[in-house]
Amino acid sequence: MDNGEEHAPGNTVQDKILRLIAELCPGAAGEVLLPQLHQLLEVERRQRLTVERLYSAFIALLLDALALSLEEDDPLFLQARAIRTRLTPPLSEAELLALRLQVEEMADQVTTSEYFTRERVEEVIEPLQRLFTETGLSPSAPLLSPDSMAEAIQLATARLAVALEEAVAQGEEFTTFLEVEYQALEGVKQEGDLEARRRRLQEELAKILRGQQRLNRHFDQIQRYLAQLEADRENFAAELSRMIELSLTDELTGLPNRRAFLQRLQDEAARAHRYGTPLALAIIDIDHFKLINDQYGHAAGDAVLHEYARHVLSVFRHHDMVARYGGEEFAVLFPGTFLEGVIQALEKAQRRVRGHRVKIGEEGAVVLPPFSAGVALLQPGESGQDLIQRADQALYRAKREGRDRICTAEDQTETPE
Ligand code: GH3
Ligand code: MG
Ligand code: MG
Repeated sequence: MDNGEEHAPGNTVQDKILRLIAELCPGAAGEVLLPQLHQLLEVERRQRLTVERLYSAFIALLLDALALSLEEDDPLFLQARAIRTRLTPPLSEAELLALRLQVEEMADQVTTSEYFTRERVEEVIEPLQRLFTETGLSPSAPLLSPDSMAEAIQLATARLAVALEEAVAQGEEFTTFLEVEYQALEGVKQEGDLEARRRRLQEELAKILRGQQRLNRHFDQIQRYLAQLEADRENFAAELSRMIELSLTDELTGLPNRRAFLQRLQDEAARAHRYGTPLALAIIDIDHFKLINDQYGHAAGDAVLHEYARHVLSVFRHHDMVARYGGEEFAVLFPGTFLEGVIQALEKAQRRVRGHRVKIGEEGAVVLPPFSAGVALLQPGESGQDLIQRADQALYRAKREGRDRICTAEDQTETPE
């Protein structure tokens, strides 16, 4: 396909023929021949455009699938995204041409047929499946299996290849035909010869139209197929983000769960080490929580947990991270805060607990039980796990010493650096 050239006024075979005919036959024969040739050229131009559009739609789909399977800092990911943003129709012919050059350049690094293997697709889907097993969550819509997705992409590639091949072959045939015509026309001087040419042009036109119809059927099929694949891919991406969201949120309290907390702890600890800023951790455990369950039932226990999240733990600043760490335990990360600040914040939370009542069912209410907390400040070079362990030990001490209190880790020095 050498799209983009046929409209440049100039020296394509088509242009030469048009000029020659205009010169040769200003009369009646010319009036018949010229519109026919124009029509013929228009058919070919439209055909090329259809091929390019379909090609770009397909490339868009592959780029999306490719991006889904790459890390965001992979140079290929950025390249795929950059090309993808330029694929929004309608595209001018110049854009299509530029696009094809870019894609070809990229294809040097990744050949699609090799890239979208079962293994490759499985890499994308496998973490999801692990997520289901770990969390016991199940997807709301059936996910594509790695096999079917890889198969679908490969099938579409194969079908498109057939259609493209036909289009190219047809284009070549047509160009050869035009060249022969051109040679013949150069020697033409008589009306009779022109009449013969007219008939031949008509026959060729009919042939090309038949080919075009066949090609269109191919394209229709592929378009439908691409639309289906696109819909599947969108479902898949939506499902993926829903699952990720769910897997990081605690259902009862709506707080981030332990998994989310551990991820954030890792990030914050790395940041604190890099910039030498303080990072404190508090582990909060509700005192004698079991009694609530035992006396008022499990639903009352749930209501207490919910109220802790909504009323008590909302006292912390926006960039502190509150998470449900376990049953009746919460973890709070305080970036940029030293022990003194953390203790102040926890005392505010204690004041919110005192005398606060939670409605239980239709008539009853319970007073919120107090909490104990263990606090530790990240030490130079210390891992997140060790920080948790020291905060946990401080929490045990708070429990041993009588509960409803805040203890800091024993081996704690105030400045981290
Ligand atoms: P302590 O002061 O030593 O912390 O005593 P405690 O009773 O709070 O601690 P313990 O670990 O003995 O009991 C915690 C209880 O929390 C046991 C468990 O059944 C209950 N629990 C854990 N998760 C939930 C939950 O989601 N809802 C309810 N209602 N109870 C829960
Ligand atoms: Mg506990
Ligand atoms: Mg407890």
